[in-house]
Amino acid sequence: EAVVHRIAAGEVIQRPASALKEMLENSIDAGASRVSVTVKEGGLRLLQVADDGSGVARSDLPLLCVRHATSKLRAYEDLETIATLGFRGEALASISFVAHLSVTTMTRGAQHAWRASYQDGALLDPPGAKPCAGVPGTVLTVEDLFFNVPTRRKAFRAGGSEEGALILDLLQARVFGGGTRYAVWAAPRVGFTLRRQGESRADLATSPGASRLDVVRAIHGPDLAACLLPLAVSRGLEPTADLPADAPGGPHLRAEGFVTSLAWTGRRGALVLFINGRCVECGPLKRGAEAVYASLLPKGPKPWMFLDVALPPRQVEVNVHPTKREVGFLGQDEIVDAICRELEATLLAAMSS
Ligand code: ADP
Ligand code: MG
Repeated sequence: EAVVHRIAAGEVIQRPASALKEMLENSIDAGASRVSVTVKEGGLRLLQVADDGSGVARSDLPLLCVRHATSKLRAYEDLETIATLGFRGEALASISFVAHLSVTTMTRGAQHAWRASYQDGALLDPPGAKPCAGVPGTVLTVEDLFFNVPTRRKAFRAGGSEEGALILDLLQARVFGGGTRYAVWAAPRVGFTLRRQGESRADLATSPGASRLDVVRAIHGPDLAACLLPLAVSRGLEPTADLPADAPGGPHLRAEGFVTSLAWTGRRGALVLFINGRCVECGPLKRGAEAVYASLLPKGPKPWMFLDVALPPRQVEVNVHPTKREVGFLGQDEIVDAICRELEATLLAAMSS
């Protein structure tokens, strides 16, 4: 039976970056204002996220890795909206089936922290939860990812060879890449630190209060930041959880972010896209936006874009496998079109000014 769980867990947690994504979302959900990530060997050896969020109460510790146990489902109808992009209550459970997971956590006002370790969806008991020193917040430590999934481990660890080193670099780049995406999105509320274990200098360190633009500058450098134009799109009603997918006047949408102007000559193109707080990919939007740039500046470089999009949750479709980062949503053509038209207007206005 454990094997079945392990296979299912491997579908949710496909690589170190997918584990980190889940951990970061949890820290942000917990209201953290500082999140610090430590990675060793591409995240296969160690993936640690420390936050100053709410912490986990002692009484909730036995449930932390129980499948479908979540502290975030308040009402049954939330299920429809919440299930859209995630595997609620599945992330830590899944990680515990394919890695060694432990937590040190302290709620605000508690006398001390608690430490607990998990395996195969359950708190290891003994030793159970143990009191220890700590500060308010949570440190989640994931070690030896895929230690019990030989095929996955082999794919990621090609011996001590050169190829193995390249794979670790790639894994690490993905982990940090994902981390920096969240760092931009969560600014100015959350400050982020990303570091390799043993390195004194962090790869990224931002403070709470730093603007999204500050964070982009810290990550991608002043040349990119200097080329960014703000982009804002608002259509229909303010997207809220109460809005049904077929609400009149839809699709409803609010998007804000920034995009490189036509003056941008760098090579680093990307669409960093968040929909309802989740880091996702959307091929049609990326292609549509790139086509706008190409139409205004043929043979120009690929744009760099950051977009924070809010849609009525019920408008986001689960027509794609939930573990895939690619999402679909109702009224996609119209939404992509609305964003692309605003993008074009923004680029043209900047050109003529
Ligand atoms: P979900 O986020 O869908 O609820 P997870 O498996 O990601 O499921 O997490 C399970 C539960 O563990 C969460 O509902 C939350 O109560 C708790 N939790 C996980 N990480 C943290 C954290 N960093 N701070 C506080 N609570 C956390
Ligand atoms: Mg979660």
